[in-house]
Amino acid sequence: MFSDLVRNLFCLEMTLLEKTIRALKRNRISADVLKSREEVITYLENLIEDAAVVGVGDSMTLDTLGVYDYLRGRNLAYLNKYDPSLSKQEKRELYLKNFTADYFLSGVNAISTEGKIYNMDGNGSRVAPIIYGPKCVLLICGINKIVESEEEAIRRIREVAAPLDAKRLNKKTPCAMKGKCMDCKSPQKICNYFTVIQGQFDEARIRVLFVEEELGY
Ligand code: SF4
Repeated sequence: MFSDLVRNLFCLEMTLLEKTIRALKRNRISADVLKSREEVITYLENLIEDAAVVGVGDSMTLDTLGVYDYLRGRNLAYLNKYDPSLSKQEKRELYLKNFTADYFLSGVNAISTEGKIYNMDGNGSRVAPIIYGPKCVLLICGINKIVESEEEAIRRIREVAAPLDAKRLNKKTPCAMKGKCMDCKSPQKICNYFTVIQGQFDEARIRVLFVEEELGY
């Protein structure tokens, strides 16, 4: 009985995944499905050439998959935003270098079955290079990020992603304290920017990599 339930849920998720991939393709965004952390690392190993310039956005998914550790260990010009020795000015310069990177890797906050990609950001350093600059953008996400509408994407961001992210970052925002969005005007607001990607000129630029797991939030 329990296994039937799990099987049914898996089939339902597969259907949503397939629907989402088809919709992304209609929006000129390619998508691949990977089964595990190992497959993600193999994908990166095959795609990213030595000495490439690689930037990253802040992502629990990338952290959980070990992508940051992997990039640190490779022979790359890795733009490591997590380097604790960076001054404020150096971090700003690193963020600007992301625009000319060969690759930019990030998670997402939600992807709809209509093939649209949703993200929120506090200072824009993650969403801006996703939209413009780096030659190739890899968006890596678990299947738990799939939603069925824009309303659901916004709800997911306001009720799940933003509160957990604000808490992780020790922000003094209402969502960090109350667990849901209160439409604040806080100077520490983590959702100043809300982006929707619904297509692209260069079909090879933004690619979505779905991992068949629950990852991030
Ligand atoms: S508007 Fe304020 S309370 Fe709402 S998600 Fe953004 S930071 Fe949190």
